Amino acid sequence: MSRLSPQRPARRVAVVGAGPAGLYAAEELIRQSRHDVRVDVLDRLPAPYGLVRYGVAPDHPRIKSITGSLRKVLDDPRVAFHGGVELGTDLTRHELLARYDAVVYAAGAAGDRRLGIPGEDLPGSCSATAFVSWYSGHPDARPPLSLDTERVAVIGAGNVALDVARVLARPVADLERTDMPEQVLAALRDSAVREVVVLARRGPRHARFTPKELRELGGLDGVDVIVDPGQLTVPGSADPDRTAQANLRALADLAARPPLGAPRRIALRFFTRPHRVLGEHRVTGLLTERTHDGPDGAPQGTGDFTTFPVGAVLRAVGYRGLPLDTVPFDPTRGVVPNDRGRVLDTEGMPCPGEYVTGWLKRGPSGVIGTNKLDSAETVALLLEDLDRLSGRQLPDLEGLLIGRGIRPVGLSGWARIDSAEQDLGATRGRDRTKIADWPTLLRLGRTDHPVPVEPEELPWPS
Ligand SMILES: Cc1cc2nc3c(=O)[nH]c(=O)nc-3n(C[C@H](O)[C@H](O)[C@H](O)COP(=O)(O)OP(=O)(O)OC[C@H]3O[C@@H](n4cnc5c(N)ncnc54)[C@H](O)[C@@H]3O)c2cc1C
Repeated sequence: MSRLSPQRPARRVAVVGAGPAGLYAAEELIRQSRHDVRVDVLDRLPAPYGLVRYGVAPDHPRIKSITGSLRKVLDDPRVAFHGGVELGTDLTRHELLARYDAVVYAAGAAGDRRLGIPGEDLPGSCSATAFVSWYSGHPDARPPLSLDTERVAVIGAGNVALDVARVLARPVADLERTDMPEQVLAALRDSAVREVVVLARRGPRHARFTPKELRELGGLDGVDVIVDPGQLTVPGSADPDRTAQANLRALADLAARPPLGAPRRIALRFFTRPHRVLGEHRVTGLLTERTHDGPDGAPQGTGDFTTFPVGAVLRAVGYRGLPLDTVPFDPTRGVVPNDRGRVLDTEGMPCPGEYVTGWLKRGPSGVIGTNKLDSAETVALLLEDLDRLSGRQLPDLEGLLIGRGIRPVGLSGWARIDSAEQDLGATRGRDRTKIADWPTLLRLGRTDHPVPVEPEELPWPS
């Protein structure tokens, strides 16, 4: 039974970020029956879904299909999407707080961790973040590497390292079915890369891959996967970490497969940490040191150095939250300081009406579903706090944006981008081909009437 009070005006909540955490927060806000709530979801991009669209690997369409249920949240009449509106650029934190009863920050973790070694900024060395954004068709991304080299090192022992290695190594014919922009496919078609070496500084017991992604490597056509069986230790049956056990089994299966002389290979090497990226004008190699797992589990150097001749280095050592206007920020952890989702100021006191969820709340960890639980926790506290607030008359966001000449991309604008991408994909026998440039996205998103997009109008050769 609804406990809504008929005389109170609807409460207004802004959610900053239309990734999974933001959309799960919006879903929680409209699902409950305690308050009548209207939710404005703002995103700096004209397209919703955050890293589901711009991070999850294009060759994992089943995971990407979660956008179907996220879309239902945006379709609810109590939720409005305002794409192309950036907090910190188009409006300030205080302007937002003046217009809503509560604000939920769900801006993710768009930065990346660095290795902190010499040579890291040489041309040919880049973050997996930049590479993933590029192959995912993020409109801010530029080609971060020229793929004119035979051997690439990927540093990291998580699934992002495997995603990147797979995209670099697997036959382009397999990627043609995905939503990758045409110019990305063209670059991968011309790629000279033949070998991807994935380097992990600790042993396989501590790798953060998931068994499913490891097993997937073994099924790639045209790719040999090389694992040194000598680097695998047999897990004790009492080992409590079941993921580690499953990873070791998956690695042992890969190690047992003889190479078939396939055109490309992915080599997984453990106990290897990068020391220096070599090269004068661009990357020519990577100096590494062999490690062993120390008593506290941390990798310890052995003084045994090796040079890998590689023409590119990709670091996949983690994403990192970025500060959001004047919202309190912990630069060490790359998160907004919070107590279960209530934003805390520098004194550790709650900032009234401000909440955080997702990667910006807890750091870059967990799967998409983790954000659902996280947002439920944040929204439960927000609703508790709303009980104590009497409804206020608030100025609206639209007036502010119109005054600044900002035209947000609404849900119908996103629908036009969505169908233009599907139409473009259909011309090539795919479900979708992403549009990756700002002018076309905005032209489609901000037009009030549907405009068909002809492939030849788009800024790449069809
Ligand atoms: C490469 C990669 C692959 C992944 N693959 C998988 C997978 O296969 N399966 C899985 O379960 N999980 C996967 N994940 C994890 C999953 O994507 C995250 O758990 C999830 O996207 C985090 O949600 P979020 O909403 O906190 O952040 P995000 O998804 O990053 O969303 C944040 C949103 O905020 C917007 N934003 C940022 N700054 C501003 C601003 N100033 N103003 C307005 N809007 C702003 C951004 O544009 C973005 O849309 C992957 C992650 C990465 C990086």
